Amino acid sequence: MTDRDGTVRPDRRAEIAAGLAQVRARIADACAAAGRDRATVTMIAVTKTYPAADVLALASLGVHDMGENRDQEAAGKAAEVAAAGVRPRWHFVGRLQRNKCRSVVRYADVVHSVDSVRLAGALDAAAADRGRPLDALVQVSIDGDPSRGGALPGSADPDVGLGTVAAAVAGSGALRLTGLMAVAPLGWEPERAFARLAEVVAAFRAEHPSATEVSAGMSGDLDVAIGHGATQVRVGSALLGMRPTLR
Ligand SMILES: *Cc1c(COP(=O)(O)O)cnc(C)c1O
Repeated sequence: MTDRDGTVRPDRRAEIAAGLAQVRARIADACAAAGRDRATVTMIAVTKTYPAADVLALASLGVHDMGENRDQEAAGKAAEVAAAGVRPRWHFVGRLQRNKCRSVVRYADVVHSVDSVRLAGALDAAAADRGRPLDALVQVSIDGDPSRGGALPGSADPDVGLGTVAAAVAGSGALRLTGLMAVAPLGWEPERAFARLAEVVAAFRAEHPSATEVSAGMSGDLDVAIGHGATQVRVGSALLGMRPTLR
């Protein structure tokens, strides 16, 4: 994909540009179909498994928001990109373990996957001395299956109930609650999943009116998510190609 000196080969850049044009057109079409202003949807390029050179190519094509799902991979890639003089807005979108918080807060601008009071506490403590607040979204479980991550809407559970997790983030010193994130559950039609998410979002906004971001929709279902109010879509394979391994 890249020459030995790390520069992007022209054919790879053209490939990424073509994927980007298609995804941008899909976002524009979905906004038009939903009667929404195109400017209300941000595309996050999920660059997991792809090299720093692809991040640089995306940045050169005008993409400012990049997503990663594993700290070990993301930390090194963010450092490589920074060394090239490029500073995108990094979104951590994967499941986060408490012992990774100290590392993640060093490069992430936004964490999408806060789903317990304990994790919110660890992330808040880690972010305390970075000098600027860390944007945080609470990940919600649409199907209520706690084993796959996500806070539980309508649950009074003191650690993973959505209300208590959101209150913990909102009441923290170093985190800024900006919205909700969700992944459509396996086996659910995107239409049903994102309609359900929209209900959760409506109830959440009544409590947290300034937390307006909705991170939902990936390569396969971003159009449906935009129809149900997504403000951030997280797109990997439609931009960069199929990943060699499932992660
Ligand atoms: C990988 C990933 C994406 C992007 O998935 P694609 O189907 O490749 O677009 C989005 N969100 C999360 C949380 C991911 O891990």
